[in-house]
Amino acid sequence: MTDSARSGVPVVIAAPSGTGKTTIARTLVERFDRFVFSVSATTRPPRESERDGVDYRFVSEEEFERMRVEGELIEWAEVHGYAYGTPRSALDAAGSGAHVVLDIDVQGAAQIRELVPNAVLIFLLPPSGSVLLARLRGRGTEATEVVIRRLKGSRGELHRARDFDHVVVNDDLERAIREVVAIVDGVPDGVEGVTDLDQEVIRLQSEIDAVLKEGV
Ligand code: 5GP
Repeated sequence: MTDSARSGVPVVIAAPSGTGKTTIARTLVERFDRFVFSVSATTRPPRESERDGVDYRFVSEEEFERMRVEGELIEWAEVHGYAYGTPRSALDAAGSGAHVVLDIDVQGAAQIRELVPNAVLIFLLPPSGSVLLARLRGRGTEATEVVIRRLKGSRGELHRARDFDHVVVNDDLERAIREVVAIVDGVPDGVEGVTDLDQEVIRLQSEIDAVLKEGV
């Protein structure tokens, strides 16, 4: 057993919107006892399927501000017009040996990088622009203009991949999960990753441009 398999580490999973990171984060936690989910606080209203305290702690702007001012959040960021933050207490489970999975945006990931040196930062890439669009559309919860906004946002976030320790391509959920587990367990030998990350980012960005041009 490697050191990282023995002790808990915070695992940051960041990705452009629609890459499937929430599915990956949730599956890890459902499938493996050694992974626990960091439940963030947010001012965003809940979607129909979401439960307070499970998916997020849904709080008012006033309550979020109080948490922030009183130092209860280890990182926070504004995403798509709402505030999101990781409660400091969410990382406590790492002390008892669990890997704490943080499904957060790239701004939050950068803060965790600074504040939590042993955190493992993983960036997920979509396999293509059209898969990204299909996933954003497939949620069925967002209006067209929201899909376009998120697609543009995702395009802009792709280049952040190079700030992360590891890159995993989510073309197949099972493979992506296997790779994340291998990375966290400290045996990333079988992780395919991306040979030329800059090239791959450029390729994905032009695919997204084409998708946007065709119309969502
Ligand atoms: P959504 O509203 O679709 O659930 O999430 C929007 C974005 O906010 C996603 O990129 C998600 O990972 C990110 N996010 C969720 N919780 C946090 C958090 O605690 N901190 C930060 N920085 N981002 C978060």
